[in-house]
Amino acid sequence: MGDERRARRPGRARGTDIRGHLLPDGREGAGAALGGITVGRAIDKLGYKGVETVDMHYDGHRVGADALLGDAGRGLGYLLSALEVGRINIAARAVGVARAAFDAALRYARDRHTFGRPIAEHQAIQMKIADMATKLEAARLLTRSAAERRQAGERVDVEAGMAKLFASETAFEIATEALRIHGGVGYTTDLPVERYYRDAPLMIIGEGTNEIQRLVIARGLLKRAEETEAR
Ligand SMILES: Cc1cc2nc3c(=O)[nH]c(=O)nc-3n(C[C@H](O)[C@H](O)[C@H](O)COP(=O)(O)OP(=O)(O)OC[C@H]3O[C@@H](n4cnc5c(N)ncnc54)[C@H](O)[C@@H]3O)c2cc1C
Repeated sequence: MGDERRARRPGRARGTDIRGHLLPDGREGAGAALGGITVGRAIDKLGYKGVETVDMHYDGHRVGADALLGDAGRGLGYLLSALEVGRINIAARAVGVARAAFDAALRYARDRHTFGRPIAEHQAIQMKIADMATKLEAARLLTRSAAERRQAGERVDVEAGMAKLFASETAFEIATEALRIHGGVGYTTDLPVERYYRDAPLMIIGEGTNEIQRLVIARGLLKRAEETEAR
Protein backbone atom coordinates (compact mmCIF):
# COMPACT_ATOMS: atom_id res chain seq x y z
CA MET A 1 0.00 0.00 0.00
CA GLY A 2 1.42 3.36 -0.95
CA ASP A 3 0.13 6.89 -1.00
CA GLU A 4 0.92 9.87 -3.20
CA ARG A 5 3.22 11.47 -0.66
CA ARG A 6 5.35 8.39 -0.04
CA ALA A 7 5.42 7.48 -3.73
CA ARG A 8 7.07 10.83 -4.68
CA ARG A 9 10.79 10.10 -4.18
CA PRO A 10 12.28 10.02 -7.71
CA GLY A 11 15.88 10.85 -6.65
CA ARG A 12 16.64 7.41 -5.28
CA ALA A 13 15.39 5.70 -8.45
CA ARG A 14 17.85 7.50 -10.78
CA GLY A 15 19.23 5.17 -13.44
CA THR A 16 16.59 2.50 -12.98
CA ASP A 17 13.87 1.57 -15.45
CA ILE A 18 11.39 4.39 -14.84
CA ARG A 19 8.24 4.31 -16.96
CA GLY A 20 5.38 6.74 -17.35
CA HIS A 21 1.85 5.36 -17.42
CA LEU A 22 -1.54 6.76 -18.15
CA LEU A 23 -3.82 6.11 -15.18
CA PRO A 24 -7.61 6.21 -15.19
CA ASP A 25 -8.97 9.59 -14.22
CA GLY A 26 -10.43 10.01 -10.75
CA ARG A 27 -13.39 12.09 -11.79
CA GLU A 28 -15.59 10.22 -9.33
CA GLY A 29 -13.82 12.25 -6.60
CA ALA A 30 -13.30 11.47 -2.91
CA GLY A 31 -14.26 7.94 -1.90
CA ALA A 32 -13.97 6.42 -5.41
CA ALA A 33 -12.01 3.16 -5.92
CA LEU A 34 -10.54 2.36 -9.34
CA GLY A 35 -9.09 -1.17 -9.33
CA GLY A 36 -6.44 -0.62 -6.65
CA ILE A 37 -6.48 3.18 -6.76
CA THR A 38 -8.55 4.70 -4.00
CA VAL A 39 -9.38 8.38 -3.86
CA GLY A 40 -9.20 9.33 -0.18
CA ARG A 41 -10.44 12.34 1.74
CA ALA A 42 -10.64 15.80 0.20
CA ILE A 43 -8.01 18.03 1.82
CA ASP A 44 -8.97 21.59 2.74
CA LYS A 45 -6.37 24.19 1.76
CA LEU A 46 -5.35 27.80 2.41
CA GLY A 47 -5.93 28.83 -1.21
CA TYR A 48 -6.52 27.35 -4.66
CA LYS A 49 -10.03 26.38 -3.57
CA GLY A 50 -11.14 25.91 -7.19
CA VAL A 51 -8.96 22.81 -7.55
CA GLU A 52 -9.84 19.81 -5.40
CA THR A 53 -6.91 18.15 -3.61
CA VAL A 54 -7.36 14.58 -2.36
CA ASP A 55 -5.34 11.76 -0.81
CA MET A 56 -4.57 9.06 -3.40
CA HIS A 57 -3.86 5.46 -2.32
CA TYR A 58 -2.32 2.88 -4.66
CA ASP A 59 -2.60 -0.78 -3.79
CA GLY A 60 -1.89 -3.41 -6.47
CA HIS A 61 -3.31 -1.39 -9.38
CA ARG A 62 -2.19 -3.06 -12.63
CA VAL A 63 -1.50 -1.11 -15.82
CA GLY A 64 -1.52 -2.71 -19.26
CA ALA A 65 1.20 -2.23 -21.91
CA ASP A 66 -1.19 -0.01 -23.84
CA ALA A 67 -1.06 2.52 -20.98
CA LEU A 68 2.71 3.11 -21.42
CA LEU A 69 3.57 6.75 -22.20
CA GLY A 70 6.40 7.08 -24.72
CA ASP A 71 9.28 4.57 -24.51
CA ALA A 72 9.97 2.21 -21.61
CA GLY A 73 12.94 3.28 -19.47
CA ARG A 74 12.79 6.94 -20.53
CA GLY A 75 10.37 8.00 -17.81
CA LEU A 76 12.94 10.05 -15.87
CA GLY A 77 13.86 12.04 -18.99
CA TYR A 78 10.17 12.73 -19.66
CA LEU A 79 9.70 13.76 -16.03
CA LEU A 80 12.65 16.20 -16.05
CA SER A 81 11.51 17.67 -19.35
CA ALA A 82 7.97 18.06 -17.99
CA LEU A 83 9.41 19.83 -14.94
CA GLU A 84 11.01 22.49 -17.17
CA VAL A 85 7.65 23.25 -18.78
CA GLY A 86 5.91 22.93 -15.42
CA ARG A 87 8.20 25.51 -13.82
CA ILE A 88 7.56 27.97 -16.63
CA ASN A 89 3.85 27.26 -16.15
CA ILE A 90 4.10 28.05 -12.41
CA ALA A 91 6.09 31.22 -13.20
CA ALA A 92 3.36 32.35 -15.61
CA ARG A 93 0.67 31.63 -13.02
CA ALA A 94 2.67 33.61 -10.45
CA VAL A 95 2.95 36.55 -12.85
CA GLY A 96 -0.85 36.37 -13.27
CA VAL A 97 -1.50 36.48 -9.51
CA ALA A 98 1.07 39.29 -9.10
CA ARG A 99 -0.52 41.27 -11.93
CA ALA A 100 -4.02 40.90 -10.45
CA ALA A 101 -2.80 41.95 -7.00
CA PHE A 102 -0.89 44.93 -8.43
CA ASP A 103 -3.86 46.11 -10.52
CA ALA A 104 -6.16 45.84 -7.50
CA ALA A 105 -3.69 47.78 -5.33
CA LEU A 106 -3.23 50.55 -7.91
CA ARG A 107 -7.00 50.90 -8.35
CA TYR A 108 -7.59 51.04 -4.61
CA ALA A 109 -4.73 53.51 -4.02
CA ARG A 110 -6.29 55.91 -6.54
CA ASP A 111 -9.81 55.53 -5.05
CA ARG A 112 -9.12 55.56 -1.32
CA HIS A 113 -8.69 59.02 0.24
CA THR A 114 -7.02 59.80 3.58
CA PHE A 115 -6.09 63.25 4.87
CA GLY A 116 -7.87 64.85 1.93
CA ARG A 117 -6.13 63.09 -0.94
CA PRO A 118 -5.88 59.66 -2.60
CA ILE A 119 -3.45 57.40 -0.75
CA ALA A 120 -1.66 57.01 -4.13
CA GLU A 121 -0.38 60.55 -3.58
CA HIS A 122 1.36 59.62 -0.31
CA GLN A 123 5.04 58.89 -0.93
CA ALA A 124 5.01 55.76 1.24
CA ILE A 125 2.42 54.23 -1.10
CA GLN A 126 4.26 55.45 -4.22
CA MET A 127 7.42 53.60 -3.04
CA LYS A 128 5.40 50.39 -2.85
CA ILE A 129 3.81 50.95 -6.26
CA ALA A 130 7.22 51.52 -7.89
CA ASP A 131 8.81 48.43 -6.30
CA MET A 132 5.81 46.23 -7.09
CA ALA A 133 5.67 47.33 -10.75
CA THR A 134 9.43 46.90 -11.24
CA LYS A 135 9.47 43.38 -9.78
CA LEU A 136 6.35 42.43 -11.73
CA GLU A 137 7.96 43.50 -15.00
CA ALA A 138 11.19 41.63 -14.16
CA ALA A 139 9.21 38.46 -13.33
CA ARG A 140 7.25 38.76 -16.57
CA LEU A 141 10.39 39.17 -18.67
CA LEU A 142 12.22 36.25 -16.99
CA THR A 143 9.17 34.04 -17.60
CA ARG A 144 8.79 35.13 -21.20
CA SER A 145 12.50 34.61 -21.89
CA ALA A 146 12.46 31.05 -20.43
CA ALA A 147 9.31 30.22 -22.43
CA GLU A 148 10.77 31.53 -25.69
CA ARG A 149 14.03 29.62 -25.24
CA ARG A 150 12.18 26.43 -24.41
CA GLN A 151 9.96 26.96 -27.46
CA ALA A 152 13.13 27.25 -29.56
CA GLY A 153 14.20 23.80 -28.31
CA GLU A 154 16.89 24.88 -25.83
CA ARG A 155 17.58 23.15 -22.51
CA VAL A 156 16.20 25.62 -19.95
CA ASP A 157 16.55 23.90 -16.56
CA VAL A 158 18.37 26.94 -15.09
CA GLU A 159 16.20 29.57 -16.80
CA ALA A 160 12.92 27.82 -15.90
CA GLY A 161 14.14 27.55 -12.29
CA MET A 162 15.07 31.26 -12.20
CA ALA A 163 11.72 32.30 -13.65
CA LYS A 164 9.79 30.09 -11.21
CA LEU A 165 11.86 31.23 -8.21
CA PHE A 166 11.68 34.95 -8.95
CA ALA A 167 8.08 35.08 -10.18
CA SER A 168 6.69 33.11 -7.23
CA GLU A 169 8.61 35.13 -4.61
CA THR A 170 7.45 38.28 -6.43
CA ALA A 171 3.81 37.12 -6.44
CA PHE A 172 4.02 36.47 -2.69
CA GLU A 173 5.61 39.88 -2.06
CA ILE A 174 3.21 41.82 -4.31
CA ALA A 175 0.16 40.06 -2.86
CA THR A 176 1.37 41.01 0.63
CA GLU A 177 2.01 44.63 -0.35
CA ALA A 178 -1.37 44.81 -2.12
CA LEU A 179 -3.04 43.61 1.09
CA ARG A 180 -1.22 46.30 3.07
CA ILE A 181 -2.24 49.03 0.61
CA HIS A 182 -5.88 47.95 1.09
CA GLY A 183 -5.61 48.40 4.87
CA GLY A 184 -8.39 46.75 6.89
CA VAL A 185 -10.65 46.04 3.93
CA GLY A 186 -7.87 43.92 2.40
CA TYR A 187 -8.27 41.49 5.30
CA THR A 188 -11.95 40.93 4.54
CA THR A 189 -13.44 38.66 1.91
CA ASP A 190 -15.30 41.64 0.37
CA LEU A 191 -12.47 42.21 -2.11
CA PRO A 192 -10.41 39.65 -4.08
CA VAL A 193 -7.04 40.81 -2.70
CA GLU A 194 -7.21 38.34 0.23
CA ARG A 195 -7.54 35.54 -2.33
CA TYR A 196 -4.33 36.57 -4.12
CA TYR A 197 -2.62 36.56 -0.72
CA ARG A 198 -3.82 32.97 -0.12
CA ASP A 199 -3.13 31.70 -3.66
CA ALA A 200 0.44 33.06 -4.00
CA PRO A 201 2.26 30.70 -1.57
CA LEU A 202 1.40 27.56 -3.58
CA MET A 203 3.63 28.86 -6.37
CA ILE A 204 6.55 28.93 -3.90
CA ILE A 205 5.96 25.25 -3.02
CA GLY A 206 4.69 23.58 -6.21
CA GLU A 207 6.84 22.10 -8.99
CA GLY A 208 9.80 21.98 -6.57
CA THR A 209 10.02 24.30 -3.56
CA ASN A 210 12.07 27.48 -3.99
CA GLU A 211 14.77 26.04 -1.71
CA ILE A 212 15.12 23.15 -4.16
CA GLN A 213 14.86 25.61 -7.08
CA ARG A 214 17.98 27.38 -5.82
CA LEU A 215 19.82 24.04 -5.74
CA VAL A 216 18.67 23.28 -9.30
CA ILE A 217 19.87 26.69 -10.52
CA ALA A 218 23.26 26.49 -8.79
CA ARG A 219 23.92 22.90 -9.89
CA GLY A 220 22.87 23.71 -13.46
CA LEU A 221 25.24 26.68 -13.57
CA LEU A 222 28.12 24.60 -12.16
CA LYS A 223 27.47 21.86 -14.73
CA ARG A 224 27.44 24.38 -17.57
CA ALA A 225 30.76 25.85 -16.33
CA GLU A 226 32.32 22.36 -16.30
CA GLU A 227 31.02 21.68 -19.81
CA THR A 228 32.40 24.99 -21.08
CA GLU A 229 35.84 24.24 -19.57
CA ALA A 230 35.88 20.72 -21.06
CA ARG A 231 35.37 22.07 -24.60
C1 LIG B 1 -2.40 21.81 -3.25
C2 LIG B 1 -1.05 21.43 -3.74
C3 LIG B 1 -0.89 21.11 -5.08
C4 LIG B 1 0.37 20.79 -5.57
N1 LIG B 1 0.50 20.49 -6.88
C5 LIG B 1 1.71 20.21 -7.37
C6 LIG B 1 1.89 19.89 -8.73
O1 LIG B 1 0.94 19.85 -9.49
N2 LIG B 1 3.14 19.63 -9.18
C7 LIG B 1 4.22 19.67 -8.33
O2 LIG B 1 5.33 19.44 -8.78
N3 LIG B 1 4.07 19.97 -7.03
C8 LIG B 1 2.86 20.22 -6.52
N4 LIG B 1 2.73 20.51 -5.20
C9 LIG B 1 3.92 20.52 -4.34
C10 LIG B 1 4.29 19.11 -3.86
O3 LIG B 1 3.15 18.36 -3.59
C11 LIG B 1 5.16 19.16 -2.59
O4 LIG B 1 4.46 19.79 -1.53
C12 LIG B 1 6.46 19.88 -2.82
O5 LIG B 1 7.21 19.27 -3.86
C13 LIG B 1 7.33 19.87 -1.54
O6 LIG B 1 7.47 18.57 -1.06
P1 LIG B 1 7.06 18.24 0.45
O7 LIG B 1 5.71 18.82 0.72
O8 LIG B 1 7.25 16.78 0.64
O9 LIG B 1 8.08 19.08 1.30
P2 LIG B 1 9.45 18.57 1.93
O10 LIG B 1 10.28 17.93 0.86
O11 LIG B 1 9.17 17.80 3.18
O12 LIG B 1 10.12 19.97 2.30
C14 LIG B 1 9.85 20.66 3.53
C15 LIG B 1 10.80 21.87 3.60
O13 LIG B 1 12.18 21.41 3.59
C16 LIG B 1 12.86 21.98 2.48
N5 LIG B 1 13.79 20.99 1.92
C17 LIG B 1 13.53 19.68 1.64
N6 LIG B 1 14.63 19.09 1.16
C18 LIG B 1 15.61 20.03 1.11
C19 LIG B 1 16.97 20.04 0.68
N7 LIG B 1 17.55 18.97 0.16
N8 LIG B 1 17.66 21.19 0.81
C20 LIG B 1 17.09 22.31 1.30
N9 LIG B 1 15.79 22.36 1.72
C21 LIG B 1 15.06 21.25 1.62
C22 LIG B 1 11.77 22.35 1.48
O14 LIG B 1 12.20 23.37 0.60
C23 LIG B 1 10.66 22.82 2.41
O15 LIG B 1 10.93 24.14 2.82
C24 LIG B 1 1.48 20.80 -4.69
C25 LIG B 1 1.31 21.12 -3.34
C26 LIG B 1 0.07 21.42 -2.86
C27 LIG B 1 -0.08 21.78 -1.39
